[in-house]
Amino acid sequence: MKFGILALQGDFALHQKALQRVGIETQLVRKPEHLTGLMGLIMPGGESTTFVKLLKEIGLFDAIREFAKNHVIFGTCAGLITLARKIVNYDLETLNLIDIVVERNAYGRQIDSFVDTVRVSINHTDTFEGVFIRAPKIIEIGQGVTALGYHQNDVVMAENDRILVATFHPELTDDLRIHEYFIQKARELK
Ligand code: GLN
Repeated sequence: MKFGILALQGDFALHQKALQRVGIETQLVRKPEHLTGLMGLIMPGGESTTFVKLLKEIGLFDAIREFAKNHVIFGTCAGLITLARKIVNYDLETLNLIDIVVERNAYGRQIDSFVDTVRVSINHTDTFEGVFIRAPKIIEIGQGVTALGYHQNDVVMAENDRILVATFHPELTDDLRIHEYFIQKARELK
């Protein structure tokens, strides 16, 4: 049971550590061939515009869309933006693998990064430490998408049958429950 972490840019190393800590074998994904044999893929934080540019250059844009037909993907922050259906305040072609509409850098300059409690319902409802770094907001969720986490009234975590997304960074805490949930999602995928 091996999982990939997109490793073109951004904070992939901490996601790799989180998976290793829950006993999962990992593969850094830098080209389409690296997706072979994986159970799922994590798309980390970073810069979504750079992600899309690099994904297209190396052929991973289409390869990930294909991979998503029968695998799970977990995207945090820029990873979430890249997986979304649409970005309202920036013209960028996204993977369109989950029906959410997002606003990039939605918290503004003054508080572009902060830590605050989020309420997450996976297995049961619980609080998590939400680390937000120049985070996007999910401003609309559509067909087949369930909200799993809230910060105040904003949806900050959501999923459809194969894609899990969070606007915050669970890999920057010692809390492994969200990574464990993602692995469980891969196991349950039929
Ligand atoms: N602001 C970044 C973007 O728009 C996301 C920030 C992050 O991934 N921590 O892509």
